[in-house]
Amino acid sequence: MADMSPEGGEGPLPAIKAEAVSPVEEYRRIDPLMKQPLKAGSSYFLVNRRWYTEWLQWVGHPSVQSPQLRPADPPLIDGLDLSQGAGGSTDGLRPRTHSWTKDRPGEIDNRELLEVGSATAMKRSLSGHDYEIVPEDAWDLLYEWYGGGPPIKRRAIQEASGGVRLELFGLSLKAYRSSDMAGLPKEIIESKNSTIRQLKERLCTEMDLEPQDVRMWDYFDNKIFGLLEDEMDASLHDKRIMDNNPILLEEKDADGQFTFVEEMKSNATNTAGATSSGSGYYSSSYQNSSADVPMVGEAIQRGAVGLQNLGNTCFMNSSIQCLSNIPKLREYFLELDKERLNRTAHKTQGKLAEAFADLLKMMWGEGTSKVAPRNFKYQVGQFAEQFSGYGQQDSMELIEYVLDGLKEDCNTVQGPKPYIELKEADGRPDEEVAREALDAYHLRNNSRVDDLFVGLFKSVVRCPEKECGRVSVTFDPFLSAKLSLTSTAEQRQTSFSLLLVREAVKGYQQVKVRVNKEASVKELIQAAAEEVGEGLEASKCILVEVWNKKVHQFLEENTCVDSIRAEDHLLLSEVSDATAFHVTNEQRWGSSGSYGFNALNSPEEGSDPTPSSSSSFGVVLNHRKASNSHSVWSSFDHLGVPFLLAIRKDATMREMYAEVRRYMKQALDIHAGPEAWRIHRLEKYARDGVSIDPDSDKRMDFKGSREYFSVEWLEEDAIPSLLHQDPFRNTNEDVSDGEVDLTHLLQLFVQDERLGNTDAWYCSRCKEHREAYKQLQFHHCPPVLVIQLKRFQYNRWSRERLNTPVCFPLEGLDLRPFCTASSRESFESPPIYDLAALSKHIGSLGGGHYVAFCRSSIDGSWYHFDDGSVRQCSEQEVSADKVGAYVLFYIRRDIRPQTFGATS
Ligand SMILES: [Zn+2]
Repeated sequence: MADMSPEGGEGPLPAIKAEAVSPVEEYRRIDPLMKQPLKAGSSYFLVNRRWYTEWLQWVGHPSVQSPQLRPADPPLIDGLDLSQGAGGSTDGLRPRTHSWTKDRPGEIDNRELLEVGSATAMKRSLSGHDYEIVPEDAWDLLYEWYGGGPPIKRRAIQEASGGVRLELFGLSLKAYRSSDMAGLPKEIIESKNSTIRQLKERLCTEMDLEPQDVRMWDYFDNKIFGLLEDEMDASLHDKRIMDNNPILLEEKDADGQFTFVEEMKSNATNTAGATSSGSGYYSSSYQNSSADVPMVGEAIQRGAVGLQNLGNTCFMNSSIQCLSNIPKLREYFLELDKERLNRTAHKTQGKLAEAFADLLKMMWGEGTSKVAPRNFKYQVGQFAEQFSGYGQQDSMELIEYVLDGLKEDCNTVQGPKPYIELKEADGRPDEEVAREALDAYHLRNNSRVDDLFVGLFKSVVRCPEKECGRVSVTFDPFLSAKLSLTSTAEQRQTSFSLLLVREAVKGYQQVKVRVNKEASVKELIQAAAEEVGEGLEASKCILVEVWNKKVHQFLEENTCVDSIRAEDHLLLSEVSDATAFHVTNEQRWGSSGSYGFNALNSPEEGSDPTPSSSSSFGVVLNHRKASNSHSVWSSFDHLGVPFLLAIRKDATMREMYAEVRRYMKQALDIHAGPEAWRIHRLEKYARDGVSIDPDSDKRMDFKGSREYFSVEWLEEDAIPSLLHQDPFRNTNEDVSDGEVDLTHLLQLFVQDERLGNTDAWYCSRCKEHREAYKQLQFHHCPPVLVIQLKRFQYNRWSRERLNTPVCFPLEGLDLRPFCTASSRESFESPPIYDLAALSKHIGSLGGGHYVAFCRSSIDGSWYHFDDGSVRQCSEQEVSADKVGAYVLFYIRRDIRPQTFGATS
């Protein structure tokens, strides 16, 4: 493996390797490797998605192009028709017709994926959208071509559930030796699939111990917990060894006997009675590792116990607390008859319900202040591999998974289920069709969980064809209502906030635009130009992504806007000649001509915008603090926002200074002249540049068609304050719209809406897919109503969190206006609900955290649960949390606990 660049490595880029290949060839070599399925035992590398998407754009991968511009067939990859096969034949060559502004990506930069200061530990908050998984052979090629790093290597492992997945986070373990308990523990990262034997061998080797002279203990929470050596071939996962789990290596005493743990235990027992704080784990009654672990102590209220974080498990803790505070659900599980569990349940075989019941008993038992849900975490991970690791997950996904599993585990319909075909409504009354649907559902699903959580939607779909007019009415069971925060029309669009800088207008301007999600970058620029008006021409604008105060990439015009991430900083620059920024063939293919694709270097005359068509040259400038020492440049030395200028090709050095000065004055209102700064010519963002003489009449002699320069400010005092500001700072924050009301979202939910072409409906009368009209309404309202506010929006490359504040009632949510007319006449219990619990998501996608607010049925008061810590809180605190509210649990008035008091 090649050496990594040093911290803050902003040194010169490695020279392009001699064996550089063309983008087409890169794509041809990488693509088949990427299509291989994950193989257990093989190694893979992670690559920052930001870089990878850039690479896809560079090779012209069809997936990054706007569907509207995407050639139907065959795919055109930089003029090469790939349907001609991989033989390198030039028969299929067709010149591309659009402009080409994308240049070759820089080094692979994975630092964003890693914990600060670490060369291997990944950030726990990463989502699958942040990286691309690349097989080893593909990584080797990318690394050879681009360099960079650090390499992040991970192994694919086989999960108990049968799937194969990449183990992103190994278990971080600390091993203590009994002869030196006060010393620093040995820290290692180990796969959860390693066996006890492998762990012991590794630790003994690394700690210089003889395996026969030590015994290995699970030292969870720094208490003697259980001997690990009874099953040497069990995996760490099976032994419930969690992330950050301490391990104790007990060494023989001078007489060759194991006495250390015995002594430790008897000391603990002797002092247990004396400590009134009671903040210790049981060690005597919980000797086996296959259970959850209670901490002795007094809860602030019965059931209001914390749950220890077992390594990024706040999403799980938040979900458990919500479920634990649904009184009817809890009561059922506290008295669960395990004999009657459905051992034929698909995957879970009754074990999830058992683990849930055990956990609730522990949480609601006497003398417990906190629980480490080691076994529950294990059981969930056994059956749902997405939850078996230690990465951040979605609390709603877990809630759905757990409810589904509990339903199945408690299902009285065991073994094979009857197949029931539902009859068309055909104008029959709602009551009859709904009854049929519910009966059919109960013939397959019959449990207390179904009784509590399952409701029925009435779904009406109408064919839009006048001659057809088919109407389909169905009644569909649901476990939760997922409410969009925006209307359907809004969901088909996406909004961007651009920072605009114009040649002759002082200062930065923020432009907000909404475009179709499938729009191209070109359309985005056009929409922005229209929004601004005032003579701004789209054809004179260049859109770049700024990252770390540098131009990270030029956005190719035919690229689809969905490859832009919500948090990306976009700079729209008006320049006198946008074609000056088009990349030349020389830049695209390298100056050495060694790509071996010379035929591609000369597309048909006039088909490709080349620098010859422009008399100007594209220049990217960056403000920096001049360095008077030999210190290493860091990104902190970059200032303000980079700027783009088209400069006459035959300009002299003096003229270049004049141009830059004129621009800074007109566009940025910076009046300092060359006495305060100097222009340096850089090899892209290399640290050291060559100083340009402000008084020289020598030609600039631009190379290629685009070059990078820095404006180096000589004196700290002379740096204009504008350059110390970050105008991007506010662009993304105020995108969120005003407050909305939960009832408004329910209104949107039951609104008649037109389906789009992606979710078209198959009309059995027309025998075609139609963009039909669809309406959902509540028909049967369950005793427990779970509402998810869809705060996470996904596109192919990224996801974002919507910070729309939602007002929700703590008491008296009335579903009647959103119910079918027929159900309104015959409610057994009116669907009026009170809030019992809510799962709250805090922060951004990157550094997110989950907590829960739950109302205790013991005293009717609200409690705030943040992993291990619990506190009482006010109603006001709960209802004020309009941005954090993510999953809401409402209970119907007829099962409202008396302790909640009179309804308000
Ligand atoms: Zn039809």
